[in-house]
Amino acid sequence: MTTMIALEKSRPEPGLWQVTAPVPETGPDDVLIRVRKTGICGTDIHIWNWDDWAERTVPVPLITGHEFAGEIVELGRNVTGLAVGQRCSGEGHLIGRESRQSRAGRFHLDPATRGIGVNEQGAFAQFLRLPAFNVVPLPDAIDDEIGAILDPLGNAVHTALSFDLVGEDVLVTGAGPIGIMAAAVARHVGARHVVITDVNQTRLDLAARVADVVPVNVATTDLRSVFPALKMAQGFDVGMEMSGAQAALDQMVEHMVMGGRIAMLGIPPGKSPVDWSRIVFKAITIKGVYGREIFETWYKMIAMLENGLDIRPVITHRLPAGRFAEGFEIMRGGASGKVVLDWE
Ligand code: ZN
Repeated sequence: MTTMIALEKSRPEPGLWQVTAPVPETGPDDVLIRVRKTGICGTDIHIWNWDDWAERTVPVPLITGHEFAGEIVELGRNVTGLAVGQRCSGEGHLIGRESRQSRAGRFHLDPATRGIGVNEQGAFAQFLRLPAFNVVPLPDAIDDEIGAILDPLGNAVHTALSFDLVGEDVLVTGAGPIGIMAAAVARHVGARHVVITDVNQTRLDLAARVADVVPVNVATTDLRSVFPALKMAQGFDVGMEMSGAQAALDQMVEHMVMGGRIAMLGIPPGKSPVDWSRIVFKAITIKGVYGREIFETWYKMIAMLENGLDIRPVITHRLPAGRFAEGFEIMRGGASGKVVLDWE
């Protein structure tokens, strides 16, 4: 086969287009993967919408998509340790090897990182070329649809494992798929209580179906009102900001204990005002989280999935790839969990 079906940002305007594209050539250090399932990410919605970020970042034309699972069908001539027929997912951040961070093994901090489906040809296609270095083989216990959402689960795991959660009271602001998965991870690793907030009741209901969490709709309920039932005296020990909403970060800082720790994955729109004096006087630590700690996060999440972490209910929609436009519409509606496209 020399051509394939793919979803492409073909023109600098809203939308994605189904195209016939050449199958990528497998370089000496690459593998070729037959894609079986892909996840639609919030990032893909930005690219579909063609907002300011997308216009600044994404070259046109580009095959988009970065959440995938599939099977290796070809190995570059230098590739060892992998096999044709192997099921895999993979790290979509292509790192450089020159920076101080990379050379120290802190791959996720490499400033030269490029993303598949964002800067380089992506995974919304029948075939994907990926450096063999980035391949993560999938054990039998992890099927293709879970394999296709390991990228966002990795964001959730990276955020959740930023601070020790054992016995802690945890607040997750934002019940999108990554917030929900982060809450599930917090429970899995032994948090005492996990409270998740949003203003979207559908998402909160989904959160409660995925994990043993306390959902709070902050549009109608005062967050502090849940403290007595949870026997919480002061506030939350650890916060995970997953919404990017200014009000959510404010509320989080307000409801943390003295010395609380916050991991921030949500991206606020532009510059947002922060009450720094409150953060100083409460001695709060804030950590920005980007991507996954390659490959430690992949190791940890696969280990957790093999040992009882179940995030499958976060997948709410499954569609054949040909119905991608419907999938994007569902995502844009804001009331879904993960939408997975089937490429077979
Ligand atoms: Zn993603």
